Amino acid sequence: MLATLRAIAESVSQQASLDSALACFVKMVKDAMKTECCSIYFADYSQDNFVLMATRGLNPAAVGKFRIGFTEGLVGLVAQREEPINIAFAKSHPRFKLSPEVNEEGFNAFLSVPVVHQKKVLGVIVVQQKIARVFSQDEESFLITLSAQLASQLAHAEIKEVLRQDEFSHQTSVLKGVSSAPGIAIGQAFVILPKLDFKSIELKKDENCTEQRRLFTQAVAATRKEFNTLSMTLSDSIPKEALAVFEVYQQLLDAKSLGQNVEVQLLEGWCAKSALKIVIERLISQFNAMQDPYIKERAVDVKDIGLRVLHHLVNTEHAVKSYPKNTVLITNTLTPAMLAEVPKGHLAGVVSVNGAANSHASILTRAMGIPAIWGIEDLPLLQFDGKPMILDAYSGRLYISPSQMLQDEYLQLQHQESLLNDKFVAEQECDAVTLDGEHISLLLNAGLELNTEKANTKVCDGVGLYRTEAWFMQKGQFPSQIEQENWYREVLASYHPEPVVMRTLDIGGDKALDYFDITEENPFLGWRGIRVTLDHPEIFLDQLKAMVKANIGLGNLKIMLPMISGTEEVDESLALLEQAYFELEEKYPEQAIERPEIGVMLEVPSSVFMLPEWSKKVDFCSVGSNDLTQYLLAVDRSNARVADLFNPYHPAVLRVLQKVAKECQQYEMSFSLCGELGGDPEGALLLIAMGYRRLSMNYSSLSKVKWVLRRLKASDMEALLTECLAQSTAKQVLRLTRNFMIEHQLGELFYTPNQVS
Ligand code: PEP
Ligand code: MG
Repeated sequence: MLATLRAIAESVSQQASLDSALACFVKMVKDAMKTECCSIYFADYSQDNFVLMATRGLNPAAVGKFRIGFTEGLVGLVAQREEPINIAFAKSHPRFKLSPEVNEEGFNAFLSVPVVHQKKVLGVIVVQQKIARVFSQDEESFLITLSAQLASQLAHAEIKEVLRQDEFSHQTSVLKGVSSAPGIAIGQAFVILPKLDFKSIELKKDENCTEQRRLFTQAVAATRKEFNTLSMTLSDSIPKEALAVFEVYQQLLDAKSLGQNVEVQLLEGWCAKSALKIVIERLISQFNAMQDPYIKERAVDVKDIGLRVLHHLVNTEHAVKSYPKNTVLITNTLTPAMLAEVPKGHLAGVVSVNGAANSHASILTRAMGIPAIWGIEDLPLLQFDGKPMILDAYSGRLYISPSQMLQDEYLQLQHQESLLNDKFVAEQECDAVTLDGEHISLLLNAGLELNTEKANTKVCDGVGLYRTEAWFMQKGQFPSQIEQENWYREVLASYHPEPVVMRTLDIGGDKALDYFDITEENPFLGWRGIRVTLDHPEIFLDQLKAMVKANIGLGNLKIMLPMISGTEEVDESLALLEQAYFELEEKYPEQAIERPEIGVMLEVPSSVFMLPEWSKKVDFCSVGSNDLTQYLLAVDRSNARVADLFNPYHPAVLRVLQKVAKECQQYEMSFSLCGELGGDPEGALLLIAMGYRRLSMNYSSLSKVKWVLRRLKASDMEALLTECLAQSTAKQVLRLTRNFMIEHQLGELFYTPNQVS
């Protein structure tokens, strides 16, 4: 059964178009289950009905035409219940609806399962048979497994379909993701390709066969050159027989094998990439179908060669491309390097397939004030390239080829957005004080965006979190102690006399150093933050000494330890600090070595329960609400699939944050918060009400939060908090905070997506 399942999934994935994939699917399922009919219906949410997409057994003429309402017939029932229906006499079921146009009168047995992806019903698979029988448990499980396997492929296909419609109809299409940095971007898509894959290549025709042939020949030549270089480089280190593989590769590249086949496709009008895709995928399935395991293995070689040629084909195209003026960067997994490559002033927005709102790359887009959305499922990326786009990162919508009317509406919204921003900026240098006189220290989260960060001590009261790891990430190796010292000194001096809280190296999780491999199955629960540096005292000591030395004569440094989960880690860190002081004092006896305040981050739930002890050991703590939420709710902060569950407004998170505030007050320990929650105006209100008087946030949030709190009374925030803490869901909490803002004439902060149809 497993082999059949795999064979079906593989064959379907190798089909060039959605239609052929579905046709292949229904045929294979019908044959595998030895039935007389298999059909697949797709949900069309624009018309609230299902459309017959492919069938083996029903009237083929009805494909693409026959539709059945969401609440009609057995197909509708399967989708409504989101569970299989398995019955011997379909006609005797009260929900059976006879549809003469599909010719299903002859069938009795009926087994159907929904195709569900991320809680959304994408379609329904139906298997029918003339004899009246209930399908076996095995058959039912087989169909359920198949449907689950295919769900993501079909979700992908669904998006492709949206895009295809857009291509043919020139209508605006819209895709939905999760907002990660608010704002609106109007611009042109620029796709940065992930690891190339034939799946991401959409079949396209191109009339200029000569040009396409030239591109292909050029890509083949570049691939040959690559193989020559590779084989020359390896000639000393691997045996001669092994080098023969390159000869085989060169032969495969020959005009007579690959070339000839591609030529046929080019003559049929396919563009070079499509022609290559068709030929390579066909070859792969031919090799896969072979019995001989050795020959079967050659499918891997064919794929490798194909991908290398494809890589050169795409590169040739990209070589002549430059970033458009308003680039909407589209990529599979965003990295800081990708952001850095876009010329200054050209980046309007970002769309990333993977990641989620609290991943570090996402925090970076927020820090830069660039609208971004995450988690648009399985995009066929290349198809977006060059298209006009509107990115509405308030509602998480991406509009492809927007109509002029829509563009005008969004231009209007962008204008309103910039007027509002002007209001924030007008007050950004005023004191952060509530209407009833509570002074709040607003601090900066810095370190992430090294190129454009400017110290502006008029807007903030210093730095509440300096992420030192970002600089380590940009370097090709661990920086020396002296390099670090110079750099830290520059940072401390630029904010002087305001305090700068420098966090020691926090790598692991989703923050990797190219030159220090950490490969783990479960990186967020693995070797992260302080765990790494305590295991490498030489790295930790270098950093501590560089920080302390940089602080000589300035005195505005505070040191913060990330990811502390137990008292041993506090003690070991303090011991290493003592060692650093001792060594520095010994080396520089003439210098007065100042001992900065030391703090711990509260990111791991265990830390919240250790405050009575830790308050005696360290000077301050700062809540890292991003990680604290992740660990408290057991939701990977960078996984788009569970992004909905990552919610710092979850009552449990709020109650923990309040506990921290109460206990820190009780144990007289200075406390702050430096996660993303503090930069969200609604989050800031709740935190102030809990007693937080130091909030650290991205530069782009500072003026907004300041503007909001200057219009409210802390006593009103406290009343709001009491209500919020009594709620049992994040949704209820957010409803209350939203209403509160509206009642206090701050509703203009909320963009309502309904404004744009
Ligand atoms: C946090 O976890 O809230 C935090 C501020 O640290 P980072 O986002 O860098 O992990
Ligand atoms: Mg953290």
